[in-house]
Amino acid sequence: MDNLITGTMRNIAHLQGHPRFTFIHHNIVHYISVDGAINAVLHFASPASPIDYLKLPIQTLKVGALGTHNALGLARGKGAKFILASTSEVYGDPLEHPQREEYVGNVDFIGPRGVYDEAKRYAEALTMAYHRSHNLDSRIVRIFNTYGPRMRLDDGRVVPNFIGQALRGEALTIYGDGTQTRSFQYIDDLVEGVVRLLESDYHQPVNIGTTEEMNILEFAQIINELTGNKGGIIFQGERIKGDPQTRQPDITRARTILNWEPKVPLRAGVQRTIEYFRNVI
Ligand code: UDP
Repeated sequence: MDNLITGTMRNIAHLQGHPRFTFIHHNIVHYISVDGAINAVLHFASPASPIDYLKLPIQTLKVGALGTHNALGLARGKGAKFILASTSEVYGDPLEHPQREEYVGNVDFIGPRGVYDEAKRYAEALTMAYHRSHNLDSRIVRIFNTYGPRMRLDDGRVVPNFIGQALRGEALTIYGDGTQTRSFQYIDDLVEGVVRLLESDYHQPVNIGTTEEMNILEFAQIINELTGNKGGIIFQGERIKGDPQTRQPDITRARTILNWEPKVPLRAGVQRTIEYFRNVI
């Protein structure tokens, strides 16, 4: 179910016609009606790229609030398990490093990124309230920077931006001085973590991300090396107010409770992603 506000049908083209797949075009801020039994509701609906949620601030707040309420109501009505896709953005520009799930964050909730951060914090609060008041069988995954095939080339995030620029032979645009850090996880590792969490009996939030942290300048150099791009690097563009200076998950909880850890090294995942973008450019 998707209203395709940031997504595309091309990403599910390979699933169309499969007997166990159905797509419903719907915006979940409106009441959700689904026939038949449901085992699990996986609520991943939201713009997630800073560029997208800056363009869609009210939609982002509404899907985190009203959309989460409807998705929780659907799970409750069907007696289904529920999983909320939350985010490392709930920690804001963190003052604790790496970030443990107990850390309550440093969020500028009226700043430009606040529309996403606060929507997800509200979504977590509502999910925990349904768990406590209605005994809903819920889970919360806090997803850290994730990349891989089928990202939108123009979604504005650093991975598609850099790979797109590199494949066109252009300079990679670094916002600010490039000392800000991120930890980039490959999509397959995230999927494995989400499935393990869904199969677990754990109701508190769980960070899923890699501990392989680097700064954006180092990341740009890796992209240029792996693509053979001779376009170089340019320091151009401001960082959005509240752009976190550091980000790395503490994944002790995922390790101990889910017996999970990321497996795909950065260079291997980036290679696969470059191959994907080569075919769409
Ligand atoms: N960034 C950059 N150049 C770009 C796009 C992003 O330097 O072309 C930086 C951005 O300022 C941030 C980091 O890369 O510090 C990661 O940005 P992204 O939009 O991928 O997501 P975020 O982790 O901030 O949610």
